[in-house]
Amino acid sequence: MAFSTACGVTTTSTSNQSGSGGNSSTSDGSGTIALLLPDTTSSARWESQDRPDFTAEVKKLDPAAKVDYQNAQGDATTQQQQAEAEITNGAKVLVICAVDSSAAATIVNEADKAGVKVISYDRMISFAPVDYYVSFDNEEVGKLQGQYIADHTPKGGTVVMLDGAQTDNNALAFRKGAHDVLDPLFKNGTLKLGYESYTPNWDPQNGLREMEQALTKLNNHVDGVLAANDGLAGSAIQALSAQHLAGKVPVTGQDATDAGLHDIMLGTQSMTVYKAVPKEAKVAGELAVDLLKGQTPGSDLVNSTQDNGSGKKIPAVLLKPVVVTKDNIQDTVIKDGFTTMNNINHPK
Ligand code: BGC
Repeated sequence: MAFSTACGVTTTSTSNQSGSGGNSSTSDGSGTIALLLPDTTSSARWESQDRPDFTAEVKKLDPAAKVDYQNAQGDATTQQQQAEAEITNGAKVLVICAVDSSAAATIVNEADKAGVKVISYDRMISFAPVDYYVSFDNEEVGKLQGQYIADHTPKGGTVVMLDGAQTDNNALAFRKGAHDVLDPLFKNGTLKLGYESYTPNWDPQNGLREMEQALTKLNNHVDGVLAANDGLAGSAIQALSAQHLAGKVPVTGQDATDAGLHDIMLGTQSMTVYKAVPKEAKVAGELAVDLLKGQTPGSDLVNSTQDNGSGKKIPAVLLKPVVVTKDNIQDTVIKDGFTTMNNINHPK
């Protein structure tokens, strides 16, 4: 299968530059911020965390502001229509997690023409001059998953990779990070890459089909599964379980969902990558309110710049992902209040 590469996103650290916090605008800040999220099926996070956390932060900082929430249900055309309607109805800021990182450039160009600011949320929109980018170090996410597989797959073992949606720039970055770690091992024969596939829309049903195909192709000789998120980890575990292999093979994940953490406690999933989504949503809320008020967000928030192929250096806030295994659940997601043992024991 042919893979396209990530759109040359590069990171540079910036020291705190000039002009922190605000220009001379006297606007009271009331107005509409549109929050455009990609789907409700690829990860629990969008509905259970990003949406409420972002909305709460905006309300806290500017009670007069309105947050218009839209969900594209995995359809890039729907997302474009939702964005266009928001622009027509007078939204001043769009906070977009793109269904399709390249297609969403059209939205950014339209917003730009209408004087509407755009925050590229969690997923970088490629080839268009977005105003800000808020996310995690996504190549690092893939490196953490790859390193886990490198450290826990027996020598000579066969690895399956379920990479997530090719239309999501993050999936390309996760994959790149994972390959940076694993390719040298594939090359020198320490491990074998038995099967690899993108997963359209990150849909767990597609992931299940891919994992079943992998097991068939490899006559069940699978020794490690790099699943790009917890949804796909769940698919891999379901397929492994049907072959009585669940719990015998390391399986990675991402998002520290309650379902993923539940499987980690059971021993069928080995790790997840915990990303502090409440912090990500809070930062995006702060930036959005500043932009709504016509102010330049404080440069103290911005910790890097990104090249998304648009020719503009995009100011970015990148947060740090953390590996969670059975051993540190208490010291990470529980200690931070990200979830509770009760939620993990009874995932929805
Ligand atoms: C996000 C992940 C999420 C995946 C599927 C990615 O862009 O970074 O947290 O699991 O999309 O929704």
